[in-house]
Amino acid sequence: MSANIPWTQISFNPLTGCTPYSDGCLNCYAKPMATRMSFNPDPKIAYKYRNGFKLTEHPAELEKKIGGKNKIVFMNSMSDTFHKNVSESFLFGIFDFIRKHPKHIFQILTKRANRLSIIRDYPSNVWLGVTVEKSDYLDRIECLMNTNATVKWINCEPLLGPVESDKIQSLDWVVVGGESGPNCRSMNMDWARQIRDICEEHDIPFFFKQAGGPGRDKGGKNLDGKTYKQWPKSISLDMSRSVIQLSLFNVDAA
Ligand code: SF4
Repeated sequence: MSANIPWTQISFNPLTGCTPYSDGCLNCYAKPMATRMSFNPDPKIAYKYRNGFKLTEHPAELEKKIGGKNKIVFMNSMSDTFHKNVSESFLFGIFDFIRKHPKHIFQILTKRANRLSIIRDYPSNVWLGVTVEKSDYLDRIECLMNTNATVKWINCEPLLGPVESDKIQSLDWVVVGGESGPNCRSMNMDWARQIRDICEEHDIPFFFKQAGGPGRDKGGKNLDGKTYKQWPKSISLDMSRSVIQLSLFNVDAA
């Protein structure tokens, strides 16, 4: 399905449902969306979300094919791939699926970084990320660095406090965004500036998604009047074209 997230193109969900894990989960976007999907007029979609936001594995999804090439796919945007209730066999199935789609990039993002070591050999077309919403969760970066993933990234969304660490210097990509929605917690722009400055100093691609605020994009998408939509450096030339189109699309959609 197409994703309304500017740092990806499409999402693919062999898992649905989750449970809160840390501060960033308070206003989880996936939970109300799963409830809405369970009432979708399309019976196939309604069936997929029959359990609402309860963690559910969908083995049939792993039999599907994602056509074309050079797509950036957010794997499990409606769950957390490394949730404790995801069986190891299903987890291995997800990574087999990724290996069968070498022409696409799969973004995986988790807060359950302690389970990352279950996968010993990450496929080279995975961008493996952990959420770090404030400095309390820096240990997730350590777990990430212990993997062999080709692209390691952090998503500081929603950014809820400073993220102060020299570990940022070892990353391949950093995404920052403030929380939006009626109950959003505001982001101090200095927290975002601090991360951006570390990225600039160490030549790490930096993507600023949004400042956040009570309405969608209320705070705007710029940081100090500038747009930051940088991508990991390791992408191929073909993929770069796709990414450039994606950036243009997202600028236009702003
Ligand atoms: S980990 Fe992600 S999907 Fe799961 S509850 Fe938290 S915000 Fe929602």
